[in-house]
Amino acid sequence: EVARFRAAVEARHTVSRSRRRSPNLVISIRDGNNQVGFANEAESDFTDGATRAAVAAAVAAPPTPTFDRIESEQQIDEIVSAAVAAFERGDADPDTRRSWLLGVTDLMATERFQTVGLLAHAVSKTAHEADPEIAEAIDFCRYYATDGRAALDAARTDGFDVSGRGVITVIGPWNFPYAIPTGGVAAAIAAGNSVILKPAPEAVEVGAWIAEQFWRAGVPRDVLQLVVCDDGPVGTRLVTHDDVDTVVLTGAYDTAAMFLGWKPSMRLFAETSGKDALVITPSADLDQAIADLVRSAFGHAGQKCSAASLGIVVGELYDDPSFRQRLRDAVASLRVGPATDPASMMGPLVQRPNEPLERALTRLDRGESWLVEPTCLDPDEDGRLWTPGVRLGVTEGSWFHRTECFGPVLGIMRADDLDHALRLQNATAFGLTGGIHSLDDAEIDHWLEHVEIGNAYINRHITGAIVQRQPFGGWKRSVVGGGAKAGGPGYVAQFARVSGGDSTL
Ligand code: GLU
Repeated sequence: EVARFRAAVEARHTVSRSRRRSPNLVISIRDGNNQVGFANEAESDFTDGATRAAVAAAVAAPPTPTFDRIESEQQIDEIVSAAVAAFERGDADPDTRRSWLLGVTDLMATERFQTVGLLAHAVSKTAHEADPEIAEAIDFCRYYATDGRAALDAARTDGFDVSGRGVITVIGPWNFPYAIPTGGVAAAIAAGNSVILKPAPEAVEVGAWIAEQFWRAGVPRDVLQLVVCDDGPVGTRLVTHDDVDTVVLTGAYDTAAMFLGWKPSMRLFAETSGKDALVITPSADLDQAIADLVRSAFGHAGQKCSAASLGIVVGELYDDPSFRQRLRDAVASLRVGPATDPASMMGPLVQRPNEPLERALTRLDRGESWLVEPTCLDPDEDGRLWTPGVRLGVTEGSWFHRTECFGPVLGIMRADDLDHALRLQNATAFGLTGGIHSLDDAEIDHWLEHVEIGNAYINRHITGAIVQRQPFGGWKRSVVGGGAKAGGPGYVAQFARVSGGDSTL
């Protein structure tokens, strides 16, 4: 039954894809791989004694990569000049670059548990969340080194001239500080560029570890340079410098807008904010829907652009006491504790809640009530360890409906019918991920036709896009500057120049 349902849905969605409103929509339907893990690279088995021992050892003694801080704009100018010189040297043919990246892939796999240990200490990421992030980094390197650059290789075979563009600056986020910067760096290197990596200030050790791994795999130190600096004038210079061809950013929408304010002509590819929703209709398989909602909302304590911040529940299901009971039980079953404990499912926040998150964790608006009230478990320490919260009765147009909070709070909204659910889902300024849980083909089709998001997931959790299979990126305010989806076919090519005959891309 289930296989037949999947096949039918898949067939129809493939046919109707071209008339969807969302440019670049990626549709994903639950299947075996999705249930197993986040990435193509198999996840580690944490029930296995040897794995647990390896993780415990790595957590007890994580790597300690070293780095110098860059303090002046003049140092940035020197770094950019070195990157330009490395690019102009042009000494790395595509095969060499491919072998560098495949070398990085191997090293990252060998040092997987060390990276788990580092992520636990540096950004409070639990082993359950760190492991798939590492798998994603490995997938990015392998994909960009091989299939992800197929279009460029074909162009070269066809006699076109293919080269890098020059210097690419990659600015990483703190929530996926390993996989996302690795992806940007790997793609830019695969296309033939020099790269400058600036990790998020909250995750500088992770950036230093990435750079060290690339260097140890043979990438020259001027082809990839690390810049650890403050976000003031020194950081600004790194994105506005005339010799920087392209800036790749993963961060808040406001940061991307600020960059363009500094330099409107900047070539910028930014993946920004989200306010993502999972719609559940009365026809859904509730066991699966609740598990996926909880996983999407509270993985890495909700600190993902892709996290489910809203659960939009259609019709009578919203009032069903058994739905509420099951959701409450599922949330209560999440084990909250230090990220260094491999049994923790949810660790501390990366930083003390900022103003919107503090409000989301502590204040209700009219009509709302707590299905599960969040509490701070370490108020006398740094106030970062929170239990998950679920708000019921979030209303259309309310503060929580519209505001990205980036933390462990899920708001549940009632929709009269599927069209109402779509209106609620599409009403936010963002359009990154989202999903529907329904066993009704017509509902799924209707939803896909009208939803305004980049990554649409059917009967699956809405986080954890898989490289190559679910290229990742949104629309509306979830993307600034355009650019291809990460982990998809056009991503490497956007860092290359292809010329020949009378065409230049
Ligand atoms: N690519 C991640 C995912 O699919 C999200 C990235 C982000 O939060 O910035 O869950």
